[in-house]
Amino acid sequence: MSALRLSPALQNLKPSATLAAAAKAKELKAKGVNVLDFTLGEPDFITPVNIRDAAIAAMNAGHTHYTASGGIPELKQAVCNAYQRDYGLACKPNQVLISCGAKHSIHNVLASLCGPGDEVIIPAPYWVSYSALVELAGATPVIVNTTEESGFCLSAEQLMGAITPKTKLLMLNNPSNPTGSTYPAAQLESLARVAVEKDLLVLSDEIYEKLIYAGSGFRCFASFSPEVAARTIIVSGVSKAYAMTGWRIGWTIGPVDLIKAMDNLQSQETSNPCSISQFAAVEALNGPQSSVEAMRVEFEKRRNYVMERMRPWRSKFGITFAEPGGAFYAFFNVSSSFKKPLAGGVKVENATEFCTALLEQAHVALVTGDAFGAPGYVRLSFATNLELLKAGLDAIENFLAG
Ligand code: PMP
Ligand code: GLU
Repeated sequence: MSALRLSPALQNLKPSATLAAAAKAKELKAKGVNVLDFTLGEPDFITPVNIRDAAIAAMNAGHTHYTASGGIPELKQAVCNAYQRDYGLACKPNQVLISCGAKHSIHNVLASLCGPGDEVIIPAPYWVSYSALVELAGATPVIVNTTEESGFCLSAEQLMGAITPKTKLLMLNNPSNPTGSTYPAAQLESLARVAVEKDLLVLSDEIYEKLIYAGSGFRCFASFSPEVAARTIIVSGVSKAYAMTGWRIGWTIGPVDLIKAMDNLQSQETSNPCSISQFAAVEALNGPQSSVEAMRVEFEKRRNYVMERMRPWRSKFGITFAEPGGAFYAFFNVSSSFKKPLAGGVKVENATEFCTALLEQAHVALVTGDAFGAPGYVRLSFATNLELLKAGLDAIENFLAG
């Protein structure tokens, strides 16, 4: 139909590779295949009961109407209190915007700040939606590759080298999806110094801030100094820490003028995030935090198990990886297996083919590193139970053994 011509911005837009991989695994499951699915980065726990109860209470109290487009004052205040409590960071409710998930927050930031001619620096490996959302805003992603040896952390020198007169923003993700890497505080501070020196805005996506494991730490990017805070746009939300992916609540903390512009945009495109979810998120932030720790402990057990199983793969199969200090992903380089016979005699040439063959031969679903700007790598989400992890790792091992 000739009338149906998509806008230029959408002609090249691909679906989110993580969601597409999860959908493919679900499709196979629906056909009766016992797929061991490690695609999606979402906690397998149900949202804690105090939060669910708060949502029911909000509904019964009649909070079923539109709210202010940028979020209810109670939630903005709860966000401010949480950052004061957890990081000693002082911010005011007019610096906070509540959106329909952190993904929406990132889109709103990029759509409000960037356009044609602007460059956005993105360290690779990066989360699938970063480059897509930058391009959707009409700006140009400038990808800077980091190495496994550096723990996939961007150095101050690399950042300096990537800045041009067109640079609008640096997008940081700490802890990182897909690598699980966490920045040492000193390295983060060296990036913050560059931001101040070059007057660079930093979008710091801290959605995995509460999922930090032994030996690693977390530092909120804005917390180094008032000069750094003035240039930082924090994005986070309740999805990962409180097992609330389906509720769709994220937030941005940033300069008042940017928040106002983003609110205007949001009021035109979505109106408010779900009223009931907002009241639930107030309880998440203000209520007892013990469930966050209980879930973190479970994720840490899984991380430890996955690493114990994978370490021997280094000498056995030539697989390489940096151990994750946060989030719930194992990210490993499988290029040593390319062009060699794997289970069933199958041979693959890249990570995407590896994932396809692994799904077909061993019924294990992973996400290809190609989607994260990291050829040769694959991502395994360990946000799932130990039994499934054991079965999955056994199957991957057999597949690699050929
Ligand atoms: N940032 C990163 C790095 C993520 O992995 C995700 C995954 N969902 C998001 C943002 C978005 O989270 P949500 O929209 O569920 O709040
Ligand atoms: N962030 C999760 C992931 O990377 C959820 C999927 C998505 O939002 O893309 O798997």
